[in-house]
Amino acid sequence: MSRRRWRLATAASLQLAAIAISCGTVLGVDDYTLPFYNPTVTMSYGVDRDRALNRQLDWTGQVWNDGLAHYGRVYDQHTGTDYPMSLRSEVAAAKDGTVVDVEGGYGTTQFGSFGNFVKIQHADGRQTLYYHLASSADGGISVGVGATVLAGQRIGRSGCSGLCHGAHLHFEMLAWSSTAKAYKPVDPLAERRWTTWPGRVPFDAAYVRESNAGTERIRQGWTIGHWVEFRNTGGRTWRSSGNLGRTALGTWNPPGHASLFKSSSWPLSWLAKFVDGTTSIPPDGIGRFTFELRASPAPGSYTEAFNLQAYGLHWFDWGRLGGYYVPIVVVAQ
Ligand SMILES: [Zn+2]
Repeated sequence: MSRRRWRLATAASLQLAAIAISCGTVLGVDDYTLPFYNPTVTMSYGVDRDRALNRQLDWTGQVWNDGLAHYGRVYDQHTGTDYPMSLRSEVAAAKDGTVVDVEGGYGTTQFGSFGNFVKIQHADGRQTLYYHLASSADGGISVGVGATVLAGQRIGRSGCSGLCHGAHLHFEMLAWSSTAKAYKPVDPLAERRWTTWPGRVPFDAAYVRESNAGTERIRQGWTIGHWVEFRNTGGRTWRSSGNLGRTALGTWNPPGHASLFKSSSWPLSWLAKFVDGTTSIPPDGIGRFTFELRASPAPGSYTEAFNLQAYGLHWFDWGRLGGYYVPIVVVAQ
């Protein structure tokens, strides 16, 4: 039997579901994704929905009149949502849109105001801002003004430029105010732009089943087919094309694991043919990935680790996928 551990994803999901239910009656909109890929990142401070000095109204409706910072909730007159993350972590667009402004001239930890940032205009009339990014040299800005981006597409990397006392992303959502005739900050949490807390990361997956959960016995030099199904637990559709958003399953070497099934020895067979049978898998849908296992190494037992990829990057790492692998025994011809 192949062993898989889903403890992290499952425990977190149940906890999040319980919190979402207890939040009550507001119907979720859920049309944005969280602007990063790491599901362990959580908010430090949200939007203060009361702009008065020394009065803070957080996304749950709780009010303080002390002007103090309340970790996990809000600090006075904060216009965005802060997500602490290590320097140079991937930052993703929260929704499809067009880049309308960038600043990349600061150093990764150079002090200033907003520091390096990206601003995206969305078709729903809203804008999103991503502040305190790393320097351009550090990959802080990977899109230019005028670029079209898709939700979940990487737009840069986190830093601590601008008004920053520790590496974090300040994510801000703006909506047009007809009275002020200007874009004004709104609270994506209060509006339930994410229906689970802390929301969905763009790409995430949970194992469902596979064609053979036991050991695949393959004659040396022979090739067999094997499929595995994953549920799309992220906020973005998987697409089975070479375009942005594509998702594939490929062999991968987690730390300390040396694979003998390398791509060079698996010509045209080491990578699943994207998502099978359909052009896209929406959130909560199940995608089937079929790949071929070619027994090119010498006879013996192998533990072949697989990993889901999006944009050619390993967003679903070994720990998050729970260590999915296919046990293989290569037998002599
Ligand atoms: Zn902030």
